[in-house]
Amino acid sequence: MQKVLVVEDSQTVLKVLRHLAPHLNQLEAVFASSLEQAKTLYHAEPHSFFAALADLHLPDAPNGELIDFLLDVQLSTVVLSGSFDEQTRSLLIDKGVVDYVLKEGRYSYLQALNTINQLNLNQHIKVLVAEDSELARKHIVNLLKRNLFKVVEANDGIEAYQHLQDDPEIKLLISDYQMPNMDGFALVHKVRHTMAQRRIGIIGLSAAGNATVSSKFIKNGANDYLNKPFSIEEFQCRVNLSLHSLRLIEQLEKAAYQDYLTAIPNRRYFIEQGRILHHKAKQKNTQLAMAVLDIDHFKRFNDQHGHEAGDAVLCHFASLLKTSLAKFLFARTGGEEFCVALSGLTNPKAYQLLDAFRKQVANTQFFYKDVPLSISVSIGVTNHLEEHIESQLNQADERLYRAKEAGRNIVVGD
Ligand code: GH3
Ligand code: MG
Ligand code: MG
Ligand code: MG
Repeated sequence: MQKVLVVEDSQTVLKVLRHLAPHLNQLEAVFASSLEQAKTLYHAEPHSFFAALADLHLPDAPNGELIDFLLDVQLSTVVLSGSFDEQTRSLLIDKGVVDYVLKEGRYSYLQALNTINQLNLNQHIKVLVAEDSELARKHIVNLLKRNLFKVVEANDGIEAYQHLQDDPEIKLLISDYQMPNMDGFALVHKVRHTMAQRRIGIIGLSAAGNATVSSKFIKNGANDYLNKPFSIEEFQCRVNLSLHSLRLIEQLEKAAYQDYLTAIPNRRYFIEQGRILHHKAKQKNTQLAMAVLDIDHFKRFNDQHGHEAGDAVLCHFASLLKTSLAKFLFARTGGEEFCVALSGLTNPKAYQLLDAFRKQVANTQFFYKDVPLSISVSIGVTNHLEEHIESQLNQADERLYRAKEAGRNIVVGD
């Protein structure tokens, strides 16, 4: 676990910080109350620390010597201060401090800890900077690195677009307007043509400083816009805001398309994606097998071992689906009912694959609280491309019904 060095001489503040430390996500706080102690703790294991939360004034470091030390050893530093002073604040930010937080009680301490949490997450986020002026690019890169982002650089739009295609990890593009070969507008336009809002956030930059540039950036698909020169804090706020909205979209999608219990796709996702497959198959006259899978006598697990055991059975079944039929579209579509769409497979091929899965389910023993439970599944599968996906699923359901009638643990195809 990575560590955060927390340095503060006031015992009262230290007590509050110790109390709030659990708000640090998967990070360990190490406490010191003087520069001397901070140095000793840091040097004992320099590679364990990635960030620091530090008091500006300490008895053995009255003039910010602690901050100089922390920046020297390249720890991302958030400063705590008892009094607000605009000049000191700008001085510290210019020096390389990430944030400057006033000691105003619980809320401000939480804010400081959130900034540290954010820094921790940033270590896994890649940002692409497209800017032809080397000076401007280096400045932006330094600001991003101070916030611990992974950074990729590009000289023009063409280079930037290439990076985006090669590297799916890039989550944010910061793009200048005027660049040779391909300018910022063309780049943003091209990116938005192929990449959805949720795939990447975009911030446009320009020295032009007129309203048409900013609106044109936004119209082309940028999420935000910054005029050069910008203040460091404004830059940080906008970067964080763009990434925050990206995360919100991700969470919304997850809530809308994921089954809460099993974390596999849900009915809504299945029907939406299934419609696309169905449409393609009809248009191109290709094969599409649709299967409905239903766990046999599922109610008994609930009745005999409790509802939680039933839930565990569902999760176990979902994980088998996820590993064995990962190539296909699958979902939990109801209580103990699941669906799979197998594009490009004839009915006999789909039957073969599903029958192998049925056997795997029956042969995989599964423990709930040390009690071995065996499950089986009945499956109906059809390749009859009906008018709508729903009617094809009804056909599969009829076959499922026949599988149940025939004694369960069976696949019925066309
Ligand atoms: P069959 O072999 O005919 O399919 O019998 P079955 O018992 O599997 O089917 P039935 O439809 O009679 O019962 C399904 C049960 O699944 C009823 C419902 O209470 C339970 N159930 C639905 N959703 C959940 C869930 O999320 N968790 C748990 N534990 N039970 C659920
Ligand atoms: Mg330029
Ligand atoms: Mg059932
Ligand atoms: Mg059922």
